[in-house]
Amino acid sequence: MLQSLRLVQPTTIAEASKALADFGEKAKIYAGGAELLLLLRNGLLQSEVLVDVKKIERLHRISAADGALRLGACVTHHALENSAFVREHAPALAYAESQVANVRVRNQGTLGGNLAFNDPHSDPGTVLLIHNASVVVGNRDGERSVALNEFFVDMYATVLQPDDLLIEIEIPALPVEMTSAYLRLHRYQRPTLGVAVGARMTNGTVNDVRMAVGCIGPKPTRLSELEAKIKGAKVSEAGRIVAEAKHYLRGLLQPVDDLLGSAEYKLYMTGMMLADALEQVVQKGNV
Ligand SMILES: Cc1cc2nc3c(=O)[nH]c(=O)nc-3n(C[C@H](O)[C@H](O)[C@H](O)COP(=O)(O)OP(=O)(O)OC[C@H]3O[C@@H](n4cnc5c(N)ncnc54)[C@H](O)[C@@H]3O)c2cc1C
Repeated sequence: MLQSLRLVQPTTIAEASKALADFGEKAKIYAGGAELLLLLRNGLLQSEVLVDVKKIERLHRISAADGALRLGACVTHHALENSAFVREHAPALAYAESQVANVRVRNQGTLGGNLAFNDPHSDPGTVLLIHNASVVVGNRDGERSVALNEFFVDMYATVLQPDDLLIEIEIPALPVEMTSAYLRLHRYQRPTLGVAVGARMTNGTVNDVRMAVGCIGPKPTRLSELEAKIKGAKVSEAGRIVAEAKHYLRGLLQPVDDLLGSAEYKLYMTGMMLADALEQVVQKGNV
């Protein structure tokens, strides 16, 4: 049972931040409520005041400028999955959004809520990392831009301070001629594993590559060392390089045995899925 809660509906970022500061620990930001209401209903979180940020118009915008897509934090998964802008500018993100849970959660849940909650079993953050995405965080004193890989601190932890709001997500286009793919493995609705790969090839050689993995560790992670090894390799060798990276992946991602599978299984599947995603990207790039 949900206890009765006070609802505050600010229309500006400054008002929302002030409400968070005034009510302190009693207040929680409420966007779609897909996570929040579950946590409150199950007694996993206490709150007396919900600061509903959906009346802040800026948080609903989808726009593009200077080669980057800007998504307001309150844009829903469903809107992203169906946005022509997103499909064109970041097709792997549009695909990842279409895979989130089910239509009810996609209609209710927002991208900002997903990133701010930082559940390790999530889809969008992994794809956003290969775009070198950043987020705009703000409070009543101003705004700052934070690279997404620095925004995620640990599972369920981000750099957001108690009076901060996640305002928007800035997604630079991939480099010209870089194609991308997102693959996920799931036994339940949430992903067990997610991998995102972007690559640019010429004459059978990988000129540029970006790789990220989510769900296996506490937060989505870019695989910079593996990228450096694949860059300059023949496409035909890239799969072998990924297969040989098990030791690196284990050290970086530190998988654990749990109900979704053993650490060994997750590492094996990560390697397989990275190789498959690279293969998909090669096919899309027609090399
Ligand atoms: C059954 C189920 C299945 C799911 N499956 C998947 C899946 O397959 N893949 C996947 O990626 N995700 C999955 N999710 C997670 C889902 O994507 C998130 O629940 C949703 O995106 C959260 O958004 P929301 O707007 O509902 O956030 P809320 O529930 O409103 O908020 C979540 C948290 O973020 C904070 N918050 C929200 N907005 C902001 C903001 N603008 N600034 C700062 N803090 C903010 C809230 O205070 C709260 O702590 C699943 C969730 C459920 C319930």
